[in-house]
Amino acid sequence: VRERFDAHFATATPTSLALRERARGSLVAATHLDRYFFPSAYPLFVAEGDGAELTDVDGNRYIDLGGGGGPALLGRGHPVVRDALREAAATCNINALGHESEIALAELLTEAFPGADRAVFSNSGTESTLHAVRLCRARRPGARRIAKFEGHFHGFSDQAMVSSWFRVAGPREEPEPIAGSPGTSAAAVRDTLVLQFGHPRSLEILRRHAADVAGVLVEPLPTTSGQIDREYLTALRELCTELDIPLVFDEVVSGFRVAYGGVQTLTGITPDLTVLGKVIGGGLPCGALVGKAEVIEYGRATGDPFRDAEERGFLGGTMSGNHLTCTTGLAALRHLRDHPEIYRELERRTGLLADGLRGAAAAHGVPLRLTARHSVFSLTFTHKDPAYFRDTLHGVNFQATMVLAYWMRMYGVYLPELHAFLLSAAHTDAQVAEVVRVFDRAVGEMKE
Ligand code: PLP
Repeated sequence: VRERFDAHFATATPTSLALRERARGSLVAATHLDRYFFPSAYPLFVAEGDGAELTDVDGNRYIDLGGGGGPALLGRGHPVVRDALREAAATCNINALGHESEIALAELLTEAFPGADRAVFSNSGTESTLHAVRLCRARRPGARRIAKFEGHFHGFSDQAMVSSWFRVAGPREEPEPIAGSPGTSAAAVRDTLVLQFGHPRSLEILRRHAADVAGVLVEPLPTTSGQIDREYLTALRELCTELDIPLVFDEVVSGFRVAYGGVQTLTGITPDLTVLGKVIGGGLPCGALVGKAEVIEYGRATGDPFRDAEERGFLGGTMSGNHLTCTTGLAALRHLRDHPEIYRELERRTGLLADGLRGAAAAHGVPLRLTARHSVFSLTFTHKDPAYFRDTLHGVNFQATMVLAYWMRMYGVYLPELHAFLLSAAHTDAQVAEVVRVFDRAVGEMKE
């Protein structure tokens, strides 16, 4: 297999391979995957994105199932986003000053999300998660810990990365916190209560430690499972209310993707704080924390600005809420708001693709575990149906998923090596059918 890939990509993607060599002289990581995990064996350097397609520097075209990790919900280069970007660029950007587009974007977010009275911007999901953590701790100064769920990813900060992705420790029912990366502060690990998402014991553990928990951070649509567990989220919401612990939904991926207004709109379960990112910048770097006034405005109510400044959490950032990002994000989100049919179509096409992939795998007699909802996919080759995140780490052939990614790349479909696959509003039924055809061919050849 390796020889076949080597021969193919040496001929088809010589410029990408040469750019990787060049990148090694100046960059710590040549590509996104390399920044996160390990170098891609056959990295793609892209010249242009257009709708649901990418063209690499060698002129190969690919149907894109990466979606830039989330922001490209409208596909790449959507006309409304391009126009907004051009118009905003004419002002040469404005930052660290007030401007109307920041207010307009905040108004849109607070109208869209049930749990949002106010917003504060940043440049990424990571930063806004940090804002959320700080606000929680400011509000409950006696409480040291942030409760989070094993495997859930909330960006790269020390606090958020504890027990994130495949970094796990301790028993499944009562996990122990573990550093998500070398260089993580021991204090961040100590200050984390790790729970098993969906497990009944998790609620007992949270109750037991309540006095020491400043906030609960959760991905309401865990990227690792691709499922919304409404029953568990309801129980978690009720417990947080009872214990007076702010519940923070990380809707960085799900925010404007699963529905306009996110998981909280779909389920009717309202968090105290919500972290947003990705889609809300229309393709430019952006993060936002939105929340209920009594939580997000904490420490701002004395009327004495100097006292307020001492008591409230610092939520700064030089480029936070800059004009270019806000204008571009606003254009993308207004388009989504004004075209609700986009979400219906995304859901329909997700079903189409899922049926096609399942059908092809079954025809080849290959075990496939596929989760596909609301344009978010993940697939592994296994018979098992894991009950909890910890179970997904056993008996799964990640190598096969990676081989599939390169195999499909040979035939013009870009599937990221790891992580979730995403559809965009720009994908057509014909492109979905082509993805299924390529998957069918790849799986057939892999079996041989
Ligand atoms: N939260 C979730 C659920 C994510 O998937 C990500 C990024 O993939 C983040 C937070 C971090 O966002 P960013 O990469 O913008 O810092």
